[in-house]
Amino acid sequence: MKIYEFYERNTKLKDNVAIKFKDEEITYGELPKYVDSYAAYLQSLGVKKGDKVILSMPNCPEFIFAYLGSAKAGAITIPLNLMYTMEEIQYVVKESSAHTIVVHPVVLKNVDPSAFSKINLKNIIVMDDDTKKKIMEHTNYVPVEINDDEVCTYLYTSGTTGKPKGAMLTHKNFEADVVAMDEISDLGPSDNFLCVLPLFHRFSWAVNVLLAFYLGSTVTIKDSFMPKDTLETLLNEDITVFCGVPSIFAFLIRMVEKGQFKALRLAISGGAPLAPEIQRGFEEKFNFPLVEGYGLSEAAPVAILNPLGINEVRKPGSIGVPLPCNEAKIVDENDNEVPIGEVGELVLKGSNIMIGYHNMPEETEKTLRNGWLHTGDLAKKDEDGYYYIVDRLKDMIILGGFNVYPREVEEALMEHPAVKEAAVIGVGDKYKGEEVKAFIVLEDGKTADRKELQSFLHDKLAKYKIPKIFEFVNELPKSPTGKVMKKLLK
Ligand code: AMP
Repeated sequence: MKIYEFYERNTKLKDNVAIKFKDEEITYGELPKYVDSYAAYLQSLGVKKGDKVILSMPNCPEFIFAYLGSAKAGAITIPLNLMYTMEEIQYVVKESSAHTIVVHPVVLKNVDPSAFSKINLKNIIVMDDDTKKKIMEHTNYVPVEINDDEVCTYLYTSGTTGKPKGAMLTHKNFEADVVAMDEISDLGPSDNFLCVLPLFHRFSWAVNVLLAFYLGSTVTIKDSFMPKDTLETLLNEDITVFCGVPSIFAFLIRMVEKGQFKALRLAISGGAPLAPEIQRGFEEKFNFPLVEGYGLSEAAPVAILNPLGINEVRKPGSIGVPLPCNEAKIVDENDNEVPIGEVGELVLKGSNIMIGYHNMPEETEKTLRNGWLHTGDLAKKDEDGYYYIVDRLKDMIILGGFNVYPREVEEALMEHPAVKEAAVIGVGDKYKGEEVKAFIVLEDGKTADRKELQSFLHDKLAKYKIPKIFEFVNELPKSPTGKVMKKLLK
């Protein structure tokens, strides 16, 4: 099944609301008209099968129409993190050889629009009210033959090389993940998903949109996570499913002494490790289970999840058991499975796993070696088959569900003339999980302070990647081979 066919299963539920956003409601009966018009509009601009369409949009129904419309035109959609700077957008445009970008006017407030004309883009679609109207006049969608195992998305995920890599996901990858989530849940057309996570976030797209559409449920979309509004919505409205990253749950528990959700049936935390205090705090204050799951871009994205049934065992601190669409195991450095309870790298195999990274055969070969996706996460398994993430093999820092690769930040810092050496680590933060900290060695006779370096990074990196904490040191601890010993810095 193609990702735009998920909702087509439910057009018979034509009066069921598919999308709720502010005062707007779009039913399953109306949804195909929107998606087909977006597909037809892209076709009228010359977008063909295999072309790349970049989306740089905040949460709004048009994000969904453009994503699915682009897929229906046979194109590969690339959803971008909204906090990307112009430099980062340019990198993705170049790397993916995209010619089309769909951009929301709010994005243009943060970046200089003239910079778009300097990159090789043929179509810059600014999603203002005139464009929205114009798109809906396109009713002549020309069907495109597409196979389920063709790529429909590149998810750019930061890599250890410092630059983001495009995980290539097929229609089938998403279908496998969604069907597996359906299999282990009892959700259906009467459910209502509250979407406060950004739609460009892998977890939000897969669960709040694709799963909801597959089930014929409603997705209630909010601009973003606003703590007070989210809490009130969960307490007073008919929301039944809520997905968040740990920092969102941390916010919610700080706001009330006790709370009773009106209609909630399922709360899932993913994207980053869920601290036991947050899970316990949530469950005590709301008297409601918080289920932890684990996923990554390369697995379209959910791979391991605690059981959702009321009578099934959820283990605190554990990410749960593999979804029916993928197998998991823990291996040592020679790819041999380790005994139960021992720590090794978590590897995955299944129909939801990406086909590779765009234009990076070596990285692909390394990551998918022996037919298993090497996640770069260190984990262990218990006797009951539950998995626990212990640490990250890869150096990544996670801030409330967003990933920061130290190498990328270090490289950007080193471009400053006063910086001789830089080492970046994650330090514990009660709410965000981690915060970015930089250790800096300055060039002899040169000066720069925290403010100066932060403003230097401003144009180069998305805001969440810019270190909040700086420590200026005379030298960095190094191993005999010259590698910075980050463990000592921590
Ligand atoms: P990305 O590749 O950008 O999609 O990020 C995926 C990474 O997020 C995983 O490889 C993990 O390191 C991390 N992650 C996601 N969910 C969890 C979780 N529940 N516990 C620990 N780490 C997680």
